[in-house]
Amino acid sequence: MSGATAAVELRDCQLHLGTSAKEIVAFQLGHFSVGAGEEIALTGPSGCGKSTLLNLIAGLRRPDTGSIVVQGTDLKSLSASKLDAFRGRTMGFVFQSFNLLDRFSALENVLVGLRFGRSCPAGERRARALALLERVGLQRRLDSLPGRMSVGERQRVAIARALANRPAILLADEPTGALDSVTAEDIFGLIRGVCEEEGCALVLVTHDHDLAARLPRQLDCRGLIRHISEKEVSR
Ligand code: ADP
Repeated sequence: MSGATAAVELRDCQLHLGTSAKEIVAFQLGHFSVGAGEEIALTGPSGCGKSTLLNLIAGLRRPDTGSIVVQGTDLKSLSASKLDAFRGRTMGFVFQSFNLLDRFSALENVLVGLRFGRSCPAGERRARALALLERVGLQRRLDSLPGRMSVGERQRVAIARALANRPAILLADEPTGALDSVTAEDIFGLIRGVCEEEGCALVLVTHDHDLAARLPRQLDCRGLIRHISEKEVSR
């Protein structure tokens, strides 16, 4: 895939994660890219590096070496505050644990996302938030607090919030991990549907092989983390 069309492109990334008396733990990735509007699942057992890869794409961790280009911008070229602003308008996030503001209603949670991303003039934010909440089927729960909603409804609010700023990329970390199988199926379909409508690329971390297999592309993350033993280092 050419760099010009990629939503995300990582090259030769290395990140030192930790050192103990016995080993060095390091993340290493030669090349990985996600095209505009492409859907990809990151799979593999716990501890294989899926969240680290997601955090690198989001710029929440910076690699020691290598480059990460998102929507044509090299994350290295951005200061911490510019990177926060860039993340806010380029990427949306959905987590297993929803990460909603508990004291804020569904509508307020989405409005906070809009205010933070500054993608939408103040006068248009409410209409955008209402349209998103309607799209995820929550038009009757606008004033509900997360604690009064079902887990599926909470994840719907999180999806509406993640899309508030019309991100080019949606990063979803086990978004169905806390849901029963019927609700998981609903939420998975909803995420795919809204990403398609919004022209948003989807990078979805999941342990669920059946869900992963339904996306057009999968990356098995086993092998991204290297545990280099003391013996290997001293050799
Ligand atoms: P996954 O999301 O696939 O469960 P992670 O990306 O969270 O995997 O973690 C990858 C590996 O890196 C794990 O084995 C974890 O223990 C290790 N790791 C992450 N951060 C550190 C750190 N600061 N020091 C040592 N090891 C770390």
